[in-house]
Amino acid sequence: MFRTRFAPSPTGPLHLGHAFSAIRAFNAAQANDGSFHLRIDDLDQTRARPAWEDQIYTDLTWLGLSWDQHVRRQSECLNNYTDAIEKLGQMGLTYPCACSRSDIELAANAPQEGVPDFGPDGRIYPGTCRHRTIDEQTDQDSIRLNMQKAAQHIVEPIEYVNNGRIQILDPKHLVSHVGDVILRRRAMGAAYHLAVVVDDHLQAMSHVVRGKDLEDATQIHVLLQHLLGYKTPVYTHHRLIRDDTGKRLAKRNDARAIATYRDLGHSPQDIYAMIGLTPLGT
Ligand code: GLU
Repeated sequence: MFRTRFAPSPTGPLHLGHAFSAIRAFNAAQANDGSFHLRIDDLDQTRARPAWEDQIYTDLTWLGLSWDQHVRRQSECLNNYTDAIEKLGQMGLTYPCACSRSDIELAANAPQEGVPDFGPDGRIYPGTCRHRTIDEQTDQDSIRLNMQKAAQHIVEPIEYVNNGRIQILDPKHLVSHVGDVILRRRAMGAAYHLAVVVDDHLQAMSHVVRGKDLEDATQIHVLLQHLLGYKTPVYTHHRLIRDDTGKRLAKRNDARAIATYRDLGHSPQDIYAMIGLTPLGT
């Protein structure tokens, strides 16, 4: 069974880039006689707003999309994330981290030649708290994956399909170019990489269709799936919709918000034309 999803964060208006992603996933489900699901990525409760969530439903319906009635809201699934983080902890793969962003910037201030500064999870963690054990954890801590140890669990080549091609996880690359990713942020039940893997597993997603900005992060997701004993979906990473200056659209691009176009009198067909897609059945 083909199952895919669209997982927006209710932290601002959906713009043309979201429309493109949602429609690509919806069309893929239709073309494969599958189901299309909506997931509300509202882990960051400091930024998520019910009004933005309502607007997600309005915008997607206006674009002609429909989805499975059960909408998963991440903020209601914290137990699922905690279970997965505990499992990784029992495997000896996690540690608590007390570093703030500025601590990490400071510690990373002596760059070594040939060692990358940034990976798909942002600044590569310099390892300040890596010596700590999980039973020293306090409420103030985040939790990180010890990538060196996690990579040792790759004993046979791990393959996954991305944009129709087989890719193989590279344990050395994970250690040097990705590093100790965050699994749980302090005051948040889980961090994105852990949550997306748990969600896709529990919702039995067979296919993931999303933007190229997440292509590099997929190696983290495939690794976590392997460690947690989950199946890996088939991945498609589509092109990104850019503004006139070539920059990827962001939440602050209100001018490109679907609701703004609607208010200006544009039709859903106009939106499809703007992003180079055609509505199904036309
Ligand atoms: N909420 C995530 C985003 O908007 C979803 C990413 C995903 O589809 O995996 O970037």
